[in-house]
Amino acid sequence: MYDVIVVGTRVAGSPLAMLLARQGHRVLAVDRASFPSDTPSTHYIHQAGLGFLKSWGLLDAVAAGCPPIRHLNFTYTDIAIPGMADPSADGIDAVYCPRRTVLDKILVDAAGESGAEVIEGFTVTGLLRDGDSVAGIRGRVGDGPEQEFRAKLVVGADGSNSIVAKEVGAATYEGSPAACFIYYSYYEGVDWGMHHRTGFGEQQFASWPTNDDLALVAVMRKRDRFRDFRTDPDAGVQEIVDQIDPEIGARLRETGKRVEPFRPMLYPDNYRRQSFGPGWALVGDAGYHKDPFTGWGITDAFKYSQLLADLVHESLSGARPFAETMPEYQRERDAQSASTYELTQSISELTLTPYYDSVFRAASMSEHYSKKFFGLIAGLYPPDKFFGEAELTALYEEVNFPVADRHVVNTGVSA
Ligand SMILES: Cc1cc2nc3c(=O)[nH]c(=O)nc-3n(C[C@H](O)[C@H](O)[C@H](O)COP(=O)(O)OP(=O)(O)OC[C@H]3O[C@@H](n4cnc5c(N)ncnc54)[C@H](O)[C@@H]3O)c2cc1C
Repeated sequence: MYDVIVVGTRVAGSPLAMLLARQGHRVLAVDRASFPSDTPSTHYIHQAGLGFLKSWGLLDAVAAGCPPIRHLNFTYTDIAIPGMADPSADGIDAVYCPRRTVLDKILVDAAGESGAEVIEGFTVTGLLRDGDSVAGIRGRVGDGPEQEFRAKLVVGADGSNSIVAKEVGAATYEGSPAACFIYYSYYEGVDWGMHHRTGFGEQQFASWPTNDDLALVAVMRKRDRFRDFRTDPDAGVQEIVDQIDPEIGARLRETGKRVEPFRPMLYPDNYRRQSFGPGWALVGDAGYHKDPFTGWGITDAFKYSQLLADLVHESLSGARPFAETMPEYQRERDAQSASTYELTQSISELTLTPYYDSVFRAASMSEHYSKKFFGLIAGLYPPDKFFGEAELTALYEEVNFPVADRHVVNTGVSA
């Protein structure tokens, strides 16, 4: 009998298994994948996410072989905000975008080294129950015999198509359709640093350096243009980059060489699912997902696996019952992620509402507010302060923003 079984051992599951094992709990973590292995992701990690890796003693391993990024180029149509957040309180002054083949392997190894039992290549096919409560998992390695394992708590860290969520019937209580598709791949000869550039026809290109001297180049458009794009994705990538930044477009044409296949994907929808119940919980994309546009999936997976681990530890050690800690987990996750979730849903539409247009435009006109903007993006500057009415009013005054265009309250209304 395990204390906790974790289904899925990537950026949500492995940290949870690692943290609980480090607290002395008996943990089993399973994944149908083997590691190292890739998964769809552009793997940008914000400073806040890197802070978790540092506190777990894993940042040096992740940063080795992955170039630090200390300058970000963010544009939305004609609004340009170049810069970087100040170093975090724990001294993180760079962003890293490690390949998932590297990152996930480090995490799953850390879970094992911390004392969790890890079974790779194990597919969960169903849950065991004691009355109304989930009591374990059943599944198999490859075509092997079915096996059953029992635990006090089963956590689904098994992504957006979570079998745990399906089996327990976890209801979605907030959601909106995803706006975009993505095509991305890896390139040689791309040396223009980090760009997150949106506009000129509801499209985006993003680019950042990663392991093995390669750069990731990604493009996004609205989903209704997916079919057309598929006929010639290389030409489509070039067209989007040319339209957003002709100079970078010329450099891509002259020196860029794609060295891996494209990864095309229609994004899963934005949602929050009921994330706890008798004998079960959900973490990472299994419980809460938002458009990858803002690159917050990994950072949030770290953040809320730490939160869940702390609360599960309280219950397993007898301090407070699961009936108290699990509702707190979901409440805290939703409260702490509310602003990122709303911002992501809005700006991933590839057009800005009048509110975000005026806030970003004004921020781009103030050096110190641009710093705060990058602090917000990095997860270091509190959203309620950044978007506070008094702060925005002061910003508009400082940059002498046209009075008619000043928006201090987010009504969520589109242009
Ligand atoms: C195209 C794209 C780009 C993205 N870019 C970024 C980015 O730049 N930055 C960022 O922070 N986030 C990004 N994200 C989001 C980020 O990748 C996810 O939020 C993150 O991977 C979620 O982690 P997870 O551990 O919850 O789930 P996953 O990474 O989905 O892992 C789930 C694991 O569960 C396992 N599993 C599933 N079902 C079973 C089963 N039945 N039995 C056993 N194992 C099972 C799977 O094999 C898998 O290993 C992106 C996402 C996409 C799709």
